Amino acid sequence: MSTVKPNNDPDCFNRVRIVLVNTTHPGNIGAAARAMKNMGLSQLYLVEPKEFPSETAVWRAAGAAELLDSAIVVNTLDEAISECRLVVGTSARERRIPWPLLTPREFGDRAYFESQQHDVAVVFGREDRGLTNEELHKCNYHVHIPANPEYSALNIATAVQVLCYEYRMSVLAAEQGGPVHFDDWDQPPADNKMLEAYYHHLQETLERLSFLEPGNPRQTMTRLRRLYNRTRLDVMELNILRGVLTAMQNYIFHTEKKLENLDNSSEK
Ligand code: SAH
Repeated sequence: MSTVKPNNDPDCFNRVRIVLVNTTHPGNIGAAARAMKNMGLSQLYLVEPKEFPSETAVWRAAGAAELLDSAIVVNTLDEAISECRLVVGTSARERRIPWPLLTPREFGDRAYFESQQHDVAVVFGREDRGLTNEELHKCNYHVHIPANPEYSALNIATAVQVLCYEYRMSVLAAEQGGPVHFDDWDQPPADNKMLEAYYHHLQETLERLSFLEPGNPRQTMTRLRRLYNRTRLDVMELNILRGVLTAMQNYIFHTEKKLENLDNSSEK
């Protein structure tokens, strides 16, 4: 997203991380590592895996065991994605609030393009129940592999394989001058940490305005997250919006002070 055209930086593979959330079976972690290495990816993040390190994982990783040695284990999804400027969540089914959706092929192109310039995360869910809505709402896009609608949940390592393959195909297509076109941009997109701080600030301000009930934002914050995530806020836009919220909070503070002073003087 700069004016610089993608130049097929071979390091782009190291800017795409695969994030596995709360994986139950260590064999799946090993199989995912193998799928990644086959496609040239190496950055594996594990959010609270049930069992890791594990012999089963090493066995299933076969020649990709070094990805397990260098895997980064964290406690929360936020830690795994905080400096990523593109976050894509994967889902085996449609969700209640639809989110901007990419096909696996569109995902490959977008991840290729953005990984020329910044870190990209692809997030995979639990074997039994996928990602929570809260986790999915941290993503810019969702991607669904259009499998048989009557049996659409792939094994997690197979899903990792499909998306890593699409990414690799897009990199190879671009190397051959293939059709990867995106708009140029003058500012980098905001990263996940900046966005989370913004949403916190926004909710706090909306509560101060009594637009939201304190502690009970219902679906409103989800819909606002979706709105902002869809626009891909850049760093400058995000700073402007933070400035607006700060100005609103200052205004509320001074207005309340003035009213207090009026009250006090009328009581005298
Ligand atoms: N019963 C769970 C299935 C989870 S499958 C559910 O309904 O969500 C485990 C993980 O594999 C998912 O969280 C997702 O990361 C990935 N996955 C499985 N099938 C997929 C598909 N068709 N498209 C995209 N990701 C998929």
